[in-house]
Amino acid sequence: MIVNISLCGTNGANVRQRKSPSRGGLRRAGCVAGLALAFLMSTVGAAAGAGESATVSMTLQRVAEGVYFVQGENAMGSALNQGFVSNAGVVIGDGGVLVVDALGTPALARRLIEEIAKITPQPIRYVVVTHYHADHIYGLQAFKAVGATIVGHVGARDYLSSDTARLRLQASRDELFPWIDETTRVVEPDRWLERDGTLSLGSTSVQVRHVGPAHTPEDLAVVLPDRGVVFAGDLVFRGRIPFVGGADSRRWIASLETLIAQRPTVVVPGHGTLTTDVARDLVLTRDYLAYLRETMGRAARELEPFEEAYAKVDWSRFENVPLFRLVNRMNAYNTYLLMEAQAGK
Ligand SMILES: [Zn+2]
Repeated sequence: MIVNISLCGTNGANVRQRKSPSRGGLRRAGCVAGLALAFLMSTVGAAAGAGESATVSMTLQRVAEGVYFVQGENAMGSALNQGFVSNAGVVIGDGGVLVVDALGTPALARRLIEEIAKITPQPIRYVVVTHYHADHIYGLQAFKAVGATIVGHVGARDYLSSDTARLRLQASRDELFPWIDETTRVVEPDRWLERDGTLSLGSTSVQVRHVGPAHTPEDLAVVLPDRGVVFAGDLVFRGRIPFVGGADSRRWIASLETLIAQRPTVVVPGHGTLTTDVARDLVLTRDYLAYLRETMGRAARELEPFEEAYAKVDWSRFENVPLFRLVNRMNAYNTYLLMEAQAGK
């Protein structure tokens, strides 16, 4: 393990504080001792995180015949939950297995691979990446290692070559160490989709539809028409406030409306429990996005400063939804900037 000298800087101090049970003591111990401890902990961490499976609870839940998913916690990723904060889907055919999203760490992915092996001897042929956000992709290398073909949409190309992707991985190595470490990498698709496609698992065919740009430019949904199942990725968040980021929320709402109109029997979201009552359960994401656009759009048009506008908005419908306090302000601010840019056109 190479200890970077920058561990003596502010960032390194933060990293060590996060990992140390005795924060104050470590701060006083100085840089040399800190480096020694960082080395020790990273060595321990490498044994616990980089090569082993995750130890969090993970259960394959049945969605339909031959269709399952695992559900991450409705929380931000942390060393405690080992980064298990998103869902992944599993479709088992007579010609192999398809996985929807790769989970947020290689260890979680290895754990999912073990769980799949308990219920089928079929090999994992494909992983469809619904979008290239950190919590869904850092497990990809584990699926590559067992021979899976990674499928993604061309809309992810700009992100994959961006500084944002590189910096996100660096930050995750700090935040989710040892589950994300220097051996973790971003894996690009082997097969780039430009439009909707169909993947075959023997007699089972799986539709992959481009439903972005919405949450991200590259959003893909995985659809099993004969079983009425849709894996919607982060088009749908259940049981928590969505992460908006740089999303095009107008198109996101339109994609949700399309999905609701198709009346699938079961929708598995990127976060939260599955739903069999699509009309009722998909509205949280849609209504939240619409409310952000309405309130922040009005503020942007009237040239009202963000802070004043934000303080005035009645958030009572959403403030008890998990993660509201962590992400709502950022979501509102991103929407304010989006609406400001659109108002200027
Ligand atoms: Zn997500």
